[in-house]
Amino acid sequence: MNTYNHNFSEFVLDLPREVDREVAGDIEKESVFVSPFIERIHVSEDGKTARVVVRPGADLDETKEKTERFLAVMVRQITGFEIKVFVETKRKDTGPYQIGVNDELVKRGWMHDYGKGQVAYSGPVLKLAKLINDKAGELYKDAFAAKESHFPAMIDADTLHKCGYFDSHPNAVTFVGNVIEDFDAIEEFRRANSCSEGALMPQQDHIHIDGMCLNPAACFPCYPTLTGQSFDEGQCFTWLGRVFRYESRNINGLDRLYEFNVRELVFVGDEDYVRSVRAKALPVVEQLAAFMDIDCQVQTATDPFFATVSAAKKFWQASQEVKNEIKIPALGNDGSVKQLACGSINLHGNFFGKRFGFTCKNGEPAQTGCVGLGIERWVLAAFTQHGFDESRWPEAVRNIIFA
Ligand SMILES: [Zn+2]
Repeated sequence: MNTYNHNFSEFVLDLPREVDREVAGDIEKESVFVSPFIERIHVSEDGKTARVVVRPGADLDETKEKTERFLAVMVRQITGFEIKVFVETKRKDTGPYQIGVNDELVKRGWMHDYGKGQVAYSGPVLKLAKLINDKAGELYKDAFAAKESHFPAMIDADTLHKCGYFDSHPNAVTFVGNVIEDFDAIEEFRRANSCSEGALMPQQDHIHIDGMCLNPAACFPCYPTLTGQSFDEGQCFTWLGRVFRYESRNINGLDRLYEFNVRELVFVGDEDYVRSVRAKALPVVEQLAAFMDIDCQVQTATDPFFATVSAAKKFWQASQEVKNEIKIPALGNDGSVKQLACGSINLHGNFFGKRFGFTCKNGEPAQTGCVGLGIERWVLAAFTQHGFDESRWPEAVRNIIFA
């Protein structure tokens, strides 16, 4: 299945405009979504050219033309917005950052990597994941009287559409398919698999996709439940959500999963309320980072939107300062320090209030905001910063996870 013919060919294209490292990084990451025949696109150090690695069997002219169109929209991204830092914590642990955390967790039997962006975990990894989730839930409850909730992992396409997800991240969607309700088609599928070596998928026209999707952003399933309600007083909701983002070949250990867990906080009310919760969320993140004794920053950021809308949407996010990201330093596979985005604090204006029909005090569509903490990334960051010597972990954490 995952055996590639390594007879790759390459071509180099001049970028329509010189790009900085940030845009170069986005081009490289999004390159997995340009063509099934493109293995990778690498941007040169000077930001002037792109080296395109192509798989065997590609129509080179067509691939080149498609790549040019992709690059033309990606270089339009405007960067260089001043990055504002709102929170900065420094750890007390003086030991070095641990390299190769993913491999070591697997080696110790604390994690199983299925190889497709999903992991299973137990022992200290599970205890740490639970601790982060519980601690965040507790902090949210104390600070915002957040109401504990639960939402399903599947979401209707109409809801995703209303949330604007197909417009901003069409490449990351996962549709759920079912075998058609047909006696013969089902029997054919059964028979094909009853003695086959590996799994055989039903033929294309025997699968129907009716718009059930796997939820890609923790807060989305909350909004349909708010329809028709009026939030005279502001209200916060919190829960542990399971989210799925199709990353194609970008998956990598706990750094970039297809399926992961998010401790979510959604706040609903008028503008004053929503802004006050966002302001109060910053010290809450700081408390969590201090509890874990990790280096951490909260700063202004933008989302990785799909290529064709990326420039415009990023510009809007950056100029409005509606997104803050929790950045926790960790190590890349090559040992270099990278800033892992471990969560975000977002303001949505009245976008969801309007689309899903819920209001605030003055009868206008309510405003919303959310905080999402990527549990598995916090786990990775904590193991990177404290390593495997138990004595380096803060006592309150150590006593729970290594007990
Ligand atoms: Zn959210």
